[in-house]
Amino acid sequence: MCHNLLHDPKIFQWLYRVDEALAEESRGIRCVCGGKWHRADYPRKPRGCLRDFRMPYASRFSFCCSHCRKRRTSPSVRFLGRRVYLALVILLMAGRLTARTPGAQEVCALLDVPGRTLRRWRDWWKQDFPLTSLWKAEVACYLPPVHREDLPLSLLARFAGPPIAAVLDGLALLTPLTIRQR
Ligand SMILES: [Zn+2]
Repeated sequence: MCHNLLHDPKIFQWLYRVDEALAEESRGIRCVCGGKWHRADYPRKPRGCLRDFRMPYASRFSFCCSHCRKRRTSPSVRFLGRRVYLALVILLMAGRLTARTPGAQEVCALLDVPGRTLRRWRDWWKQDFPLTSLWKAEVACYLPPVHREDLPLSLLARFAGPPIAAVLDGLALLTPLTIRQR
């Protein structure tokens, strides 16, 4: 079901709007020195992005203090830290695909994801994600528990509603991981 979302312009549009709102929120909190934030976006060349969205997805919202030059990069539902593939792709593909999934090779080829990259994402979900403070403070408290061995599918399954809503909620949950504080 979820693979269709990787080709759905609506979700790309929504994720962009959520990032805009997150950026506005970040800008609203003044720098500790009292200075104002100026836009200083990071250029990005995201992979797994629909062609029509390459322009709006070619930068990540970030700010620079007008006074002390400190950086503040807004949390994002589009970019998972510095990874080149979009968070949407990392969440959906790692959740749905193994080498044995029917059609896996076609989807990987379509999005230009090498098999070893897919394996790395799955390792990250199963081994590294449960070590994050997000997991310890929040996800580990879910009842019934989220099974580590089925991540990230087991996490997505916790969100109600149609797949698009579950994916948006999942990406929103991950936003603390998209900025440097771990
Ligand atoms: Zn400042």
